[in-house]
Amino acid sequence: MIKVCKFGGTSMADGNMMKRVASIIKSDGERRYVVVSAPGKRFGGDVKITDLLYRCFDSVKQTGKCGEAYEKISERFRGIVSELGVSLDIEGILRDTQRDIEREKSEDFTASRGEYLSARVMASLLGFAFVDARDVVKFRADGQLDSERTFELMANALKGKKYAVVSGFYGEGADGRVKTFSRGGSDISGAIVARAVTADLYENWTDVSGFLACDPRIVENPAEIHSMSYKELRELSYMGANVLHSESIFPVRAANIPIRIKNTFRPTDKGTEILPISKYRYNGRIVTGIAGKKNFTVIFIEKSLMNAEIGFARKVLSILEKHGICFEHMPSGIDTMSFVIDSEELKHGVQEELLEEIRKAVNPDTMRVFDDIALIATVGHGMSKNVGTSAKLFDAIARAGINVRMIDQGSSELNIIVGVDNDNCERAIRAIYEEFFKKDMSFGL
Ligand code: ASP
Repeated sequence: MIKVCKFGGTSMADGNMMKRVASIIKSDGERRYVVVSAPGKRFGGDVKITDLLYRCFDSVKQTGKCGEAYEKISERFRGIVSELGVSLDIEGILRDTQRDIEREKSEDFTASRGEYLSARVMASLLGFAFVDARDVVKFRADGQLDSERTFELMANALKGKKYAVVSGFYGEGADGRVKTFSRGGSDISGAIVARAVTADLYENWTDVSGFLACDPRIVENPAEIHSMSYKELRELSYMGANVLHSESIFPVRAANIPIRIKNTFRPTDKGTEILPISKYRYNGRIVTGIAGKKNFTVIFIEKSLMNAEIGFARKVLSILEKHGICFEHMPSGIDTMSFVIDSEELKHGVQEELLEEIRKAVNPDTMRVFDDIALIATVGHGMSKNVGTSAKLFDAIARAGINVRMIDQGSSELNIIVGVDNDNCERAIRAIYEEFFKKDMSFGL
């Protein structure tokens, strides 16, 4: 059995945490390949190493030198190494890293050094081989992961090694320069390693005991989710349940490798297991989780006999494509069509241009724009098995006096998405939670 473990920034925050991580790894000989993040926050108000590195890059841009932020980074790594008592020439490594950052003058390269340094330290602490992600994680010229090449290089690099630490968060672009994933991307690196070695389990160690049915800042003490499917995870994490990077399921899903979320602070807690649908056992609950995301814009288009006008949708979609705008949802009626777009995408006059072009291309009877919309996803395979789920959901929202601005239910019946005003987001989530979790006592069985 091979387990791949990824440890997040809080788990790597200082020497003490790293010792804790080492004892978790050593307690199970099947934990063979380890992916680490850069040291994160040690306490509220602390600064993550990755954020210090971004500051460091600002300084390189302005002055050519790493500056004060790098001093802070060096201090932290010196402290960690002396706390751990490992024999690693940290001074030499820090000096080389500073020189490389100043020479490369690349934001991604600079940001990646947190993972590089923490992986070097962990490899030395564990007595495992160190594998530099730059040599084995490759991106294509379009910026996407070159999966085939990466899996092959990674598998080859790990083949002869019983135990190894791989740095998370980065790889190498087609131009030969270091490239990072988006923030939180070490989760993806962990999934890549799991896939490359066809692991039996991908353990993702973090600072919470898995997924909760909704954000604990919105509902006090929400139910824990002990088991869910990849699909449920994708829906929930995309909509803001941010325990795991939303893209990290893709590599493992294709090989049916289960993910388990574990808490480094409470290693005996059950956590959350995420399974392919073939292994997922329905446990009677209706809803698995609820997640919400704010700040969407809805462009609503109405035109009589739209349904009979061939090419209507194509024309509008090609305008979005021309502007490089992604839309999240496209609820439609016979004569209406709406596009739900992340408001960020429509900044800097893009919205006006877009509306003008749509007007010219399809000549709608009405076109309206609604800003400040929050989307709330209520997710669960159980919804398709239980008659009246949507009635309950809308009833709960109505009882809370909240106006629903938009509804979208995917045909898989895994997910009902409602759009409400930003200001009503938290209240709507609370109302849905009350309805399905306080009343649905079978949850968690
Ligand atoms: N260190 C990076 C970040 O802070 C990547 C990660 O931790 O996954 O986003």
